[in-house]
Amino acid sequence: PADVVTMGETMAMLSTPRIGLLRHAASLDLSSGGAESNLAIGLARLGHRVSWVGRVGADEFGALICRTLAAEGIDCRSIVDPAAPTGLMIKARRTEAVTRVSYYRSGSAGSRLSPQDVDTALVSRARVLYLTGITPALSGTAREAVRYAIDVARRAGVLVCLSLNYRQALWSEQAAGAEFAELVTQADLVFASEAEARLVVGGDTVEDLAAELSALGPRQVLITRGARGALAYVDGEVLIAPAYPVSAVDPVGAGDAFAAGYLSATLDGMSIVDCLDRACLAGAFAVTVPGDWEGLPDRADLALLRAEDAVLR
Ligand code: ATP
Repeated sequence: PADVVTMGETMAMLSTPRIGLLRHAASLDLSSGGAESNLAIGLARLGHRVSWVGRVGADEFGALICRTLAAEGIDCRSIVDPAAPTGLMIKARRTEAVTRVSYYRSGSAGSRLSPQDVDTALVSRARVLYLTGITPALSGTAREAVRYAIDVARRAGVLVCLSLNYRQALWSEQAAGAEFAELVTQADLVFASEAEARLVVGGDTVEDLAAELSALGPRQVLITRGARGALAYVDGEVLIAPAYPVSAVDPVGAGDAFAAGYLSATLDGMSIVDCLDRACLAGAFAVTVPGDWEGLPDRADLALLRAEDAVLR
């Protein structure tokens, strides 16, 4: 059985190799990405058994996604949907610091996820179910799939983890806030940025926001704060961790990496302090390279950001 089961949409990704307007790009790099599969790659690199579930089209982009996930050692449970194409995202670096992401995903195979796609035996035997707030925004059936998977996990005593991941291109703050408020009550562990937490609860400080989210149900709440690090609120106790100093080239994917690091240390039975540390380490690795998941660390890499020597021989 898998340690972690995750479900969502992974898309093909086209990205500009250089800074500038997309229209001037003479070529684009082809890859793939999705919050849940980024998380799956992060966990697989750290040695955990992960199953990813999602729909892809009967096309080359779908094949690319399965090939990539399989190559990373993930149990890829892709469902080929001949009725719709694999979704596409385009990443263009407009300036050194600003990356624009555009989606071509409405009506995609991934958005047609439905409750029948949830393998109840797979979910019930896992230790962790990881879902994001992106999936319920994709379609009515995808939203039902999320709810059904959570029901199955809760009945089996599987840890339910939810990363809010608000995507403004997919729905309004009001619609997302209402859905998140319901999902949070069903989760054991919630990952959110400060802005995402504010879609659901109010509070003057980050600590207040975390406490308010936790009051809705989850025993553990993690607030990610980019280059400022992160905060954990666990059983009423607050822990704060600074970010590891790195030179960031692409902020996309840091949240997924952070969640992978945190869950990896949780699966290893580590303390909250150590979970938070591995989360921050993984988040820092993710921002050091242009791709969303390519920079994710394996076990040996975890020591690198602490290393004294810059050259390892
Ligand atoms: P995304 O949705 O783009 O994947 P996010 O907004 O969910 O990201 P962030 O808060 O940007 O998540 O990042 C998650 C964690 O990664 C942070 O809490 C921090 O530990 C680490 N991190 C992010 N940016 C940096 C950075 N510039 N330098 C070092 N660590 C970083």
